[in-house]
Amino acid sequence: MRLDPVSRRLLESAGRHPLVLMYHATPAGGRGSRWSLPLRRFLAHLDLLRETGWRTVTVSELVAGGLRGGRTVAITFDDGFADNLAAAEALEARGMRATWFVVTGRLGEAARWSRGVGGRLMTAAEVRRLHEAGHEVGSHTRTHAALDALEGPALDEEVAGSRRELEDLLGAPVAAFAYPYGRVPEAAARAVRAAGYRCAATCRGGAVRPGTDPLGLPRLEVDGACGAGRLARMMALAAAPGSWMSVFSYVGRRVLHRLVVAT
Ligand SMILES: [Zn+2]
Repeated sequence: MRLDPVSRRLLESAGRHPLVLMYHATPAGGRGSRWSLPLRRFLAHLDLLRETGWRTVTVSELVAGGLRGGRTVAITFDDGFADNLAAAEALEARGMRATWFVVTGRLGEAARWSRGVGGRLMTAAEVRRLHEAGHEVGSHTRTHAALDALEGPALDEEVAGSRRELEDLLGAPVAAFAYPYGRVPEAAARAVRAAGYRCAATCRGGAVRPGTDPLGLPRLEVDGACGAGRLARMMALAAAPGSWMSVFSYVGRRVLHRLVVAT
């Protein structure tokens, strides 16, 4: 695929620590918005990952592997939009897999929290199909509630209740959770631990390192305007948004650091 040589080189030389990418809707057309990436851009991302030798794993596999692995990336989708089914097929055609975080009490409905972005959510049958195809399905609560507003049984219902619902639906254990809105309130983190999840994804940026808490995994947010070049730069820096400005300031800091260390 066509890519500027600097971005390609950056990505080829990166990958000491695993990364987790966060996607939302992947519609067939359109220009893209923060939570909606046109499918054609997603396909370009997959080609880029393959050409630069990155291995895709599910979030659970990443945790089971001790959060180690060079050039390893976990692709995740939040909310479970039905238009992700085409993205799932594209992954399968390339021998890749991903993790979906679904809202168990809203399957088949519109995503009311996303202000019209992304159309309807996957049905129970569609979620089961993902699981059967070898993808991981995790919980993103029952109703996409803001967890900092909840406590006690209401919080448990969203965290542990959604896990039970999903396990009933899939007929398999569920290990992964993603916090809605990326916020990680203390009570919610305790509820996630108590519910028995083995990994939980946040929206904090950065790479996954050996000492990272599996229940507070960092992720890089991929917005709808993110082309392959920006994805390459974002992954190389382990930080969104991967703009050229962020690359220049990163390189500047490195050069400055070397000058200071050398003197
Ligand atoms: Zn969400």
